[in-house]
Amino acid sequence: MKYISTRGRAPALTFEEAMLSGLARDGGLYVPEEVPVMTPGDIRALHGLSYEEVAFRVMRPFVGDGFTDEVFADLIAKSYAGFGHGARAPLVQLAPGHFLLELFHGPTLAFKDFAMQLIGQLFEEALTRRGERVTIVGATSGDTGSAAIEAFRGLDAVDVFILYPHGRVSEVQRRQMTTPVEENVHAVAMDGHFDDCQARLKDMFNDFDFRDGVRLAGVNSINWARVLAQVVYYFSSAASLGAPERKVSFTVPTGNFGDIFAGYIAKKMGLPIDRLVVATNQNDILHRCLSTGDYRMDEVTPSISPSMDIQVSSNFERALFDAYGRDGTPVAQLMDELKSGGFHVSQGALEALREHFTSGRASEAETMATITSAHATMGELLCPHSAIGVKVAEEQRDPGVPMITLATAHPAKFPDAVEEASGLRPPLPERMADLFDRPERVTRARNDLADLKTLIQERIPS
Ligand SMILES: *Cc1c(COP(=O)(O)O)cnc(C)c1O
Repeated sequence: MKYISTRGRAPALTFEEAMLSGLARDGGLYVPEEVPVMTPGDIRALHGLSYEEVAFRVMRPFVGDGFTDEVFADLIAKSYAGFGHGARAPLVQLAPGHFLLELFHGPTLAFKDFAMQLIGQLFEEALTRRGERVTIVGATSGDTGSAAIEAFRGLDAVDVFILYPHGRVSEVQRRQMTTPVEENVHAVAMDGHFDDCQARLKDMFNDFDFRDGVRLAGVNSINWARVLAQVVYYFSSAASLGAPERKVSFTVPTGNFGDIFAGYIAKKMGLPIDRLVVATNQNDILHRCLSTGDYRMDEVTPSISPSMDIQVSSNFERALFDAYGRDGTPVAQLMDELKSGGFHVSQGALEALREHFTSGRASEAETMATITSAHATMGELLCPHSAIGVKVAEEQRDPGVPMITLATAHPAKFPDAVEEASGLRPPLPERMADLFDRPERVTRARNDLADLKTLIQERIPS
């Protein structure tokens, strides 16, 4: 299977090449040329399988010949062995017809572990086979960075640099990035917001001399392999509620549109999904866009759900590519207009998007109120991101269709907000109880491309 760029001006690549390069050279994002389909029989056959077996069957057709069946199954097994729950992604019931998909049982307590653990294994395997070494640079609003560091720490073929906005991630998130002792791990606290970190990351990828010189690779949510790993739990959860016989809907707390785009891929593969509901916090560019067609940047307002504090939503480009009939030319033009503030989605493309996606938002007060009420009436402690999902899901729920809301982080990652809303301070799981005692190691940096390039060049082995 080949992967093509959403801007139509970069060479088609294999799965492995697209994974190792991240962003396409024309600035676009890789998408599969064609999405493989699972028949109702294929989906029915998932009933009763382990998470790992579902993962193998869902992802195998996308991966190509670079990995044999045996190796791929082994990498999947290693990826999820460190999770704190045998089901990996357990489904709990919140109310009649409303379910919570707990995606926070991985090593850093957020859903990003599902993709990052797998991508760590895939990189190690591919690079070792090729005799290569890469420098991974990532930008994070909190959870991506810790998940990447956890996935790549101690690997021989990889240095990992994570840029995060100084003072704008939670203490647990920061400590998960700054306490690993491995020499190949570099946490960088940069001035500015997450979008500044993401912008500098894009600049580095667009600087081809630098990119080739340090063998830059990206594992941000634009990496296709990450999207793919997230498709799996849409299948596992829908199958456990009776797919393909019964349709389900999903509500997804959304920032960069990666997680919910994985749900869209599941739907394109044949999973009977009724609606995909985008849930945003007060940084609601996606909700505004789906409501009005206007995709316009705004200031980032820091919130109690920092992993969703974004100005632009990078994976949305993949949805736009489909909405514009898989033509890279209009997409490239829109992305050009975005540089000067925003763009308007055409009526046809907006209708195409609305066939699959609806949206809602939650204010800070609504998020807190949902944490309070979910604890009081459902006995469930929600992290602020998951609470946004639950609030929007309850507003948009169709009583005839089961709703699955994705719980994207463990409440203990955001203990202050959870305690204020519920009166309970959620404890960290046993295995990370000493996080607050470990020494931190971090580099401060200005929001400056040249500074960041120098820092990276000086740190990697020559
Ligand atoms: C990253 C993250 C999100 C947003 O996911 P996207 O794929 O960027 O939409 C939501 N909640 C948590 C806890 C996250 O870490």
